[in-house]
Amino acid sequence: MTAWSELAMYQQPAPQLFAPTAQTCARCGRMNPLDRQFCIDCSAMLARSEHTLAGIGGRLGANLLDGLIAGVTGAIALLFLAAGDAGPLVAAMLILGYLAGVLVFLSRGQTPGKAAIGLVCVRPDGTRAGFPTMFFARYLIPALLSSITLGIFGILDLLWALWDKDRRTLHDKIAGTFVVRMGASD
Ligand SMILES: [Zn+2]
Repeated sequence: MTAWSELAMYQQPAPQLFAPTAQTCARCGRMNPLDRQFCIDCSAMLARSEHTLAGIGGRLGANLLDGLIAGVTGAIALLFLAAGDAGPLVAAMLILGYLAGVLVFLSRGQTPGKAAIGLVCVRPDGTRAGFPTMFFARYLIPALLSSITLGIFGILDLLWALWDKDRRTLHDKIAGTFVVRMGASD
């Protein structure tokens, strides 16, 4: 008669038949698909994420740079416009060139300022946001909300990142995006 303890000797550890198919959020405990970089429920960055959230200073710097680039481009265009002769044509080319440049950056999930600082907007799965998200959800809708509320939304929108656990602005939440630092693969 074989003792149970002898049988136990032949027991192998259960083979790992399946690779993990989900990951648990450290903040709220929610199970998330493996390809998520941020939690479905609470938006916390998941442990498997290779991203680093952008700091407030970097985001502010990128916004200021965007304003500066737009302002300088506009000012130079105005100077050409006032100069007469071929001036208006040069001004129009300048503005078109600027818009084309911004379009290229937006389609890569960035603005010129964000690209200069090394920041990028990503979706919850970590891929870069595209032009529709960047233009409509992150820019146009917040701008409309801001004008309807006489600028109150605009101020609240940016300040939100100061107390938000994931450093997200309101337009990040509207767009479902996260602003992260560019990685080595970018
Ligand atoms: Zn969570």
